[in-house]
Amino acid sequence: MKMKIKRIRAKEVKKCSLCGKEFDMWDEEENFCFRHRFGYGSAYDGYLLNLNLCCKCFDSLMDELVPRCKTNPLSEPYSELAMAYAQDMPNLE
Ligand SMILES: [Zn+2]
Repeated sequence: MKMKIKRIRAKEVKKCSLCGKEFDMWDEEENFCFRHRFGYGSAYDGYLLNLNLCCKCFDSLMDELVPRCKTNPLSEPYSELAMAYAQDMPNLE
């Protein structure tokens, strides 16, 4: 019993790498945790990246990153569905 309590207390609470905020329910739900070990091709060769971002910081990072991308890294599942549906329509008639 004692051990069980200890284990629950010792449970790691993730913190946002950017703002230092502890993950709340929404941050846990989104769970934007990016781990990557860099290799020879990178100037960060040998480093291990361990990035945890809360929703707010993740959004702000995306706001900076996405406009810099030559190809859109974001897909919108609903618009893709709508397009697929629209393409299927003539077949139904
Ligand atoms: Zn944050």
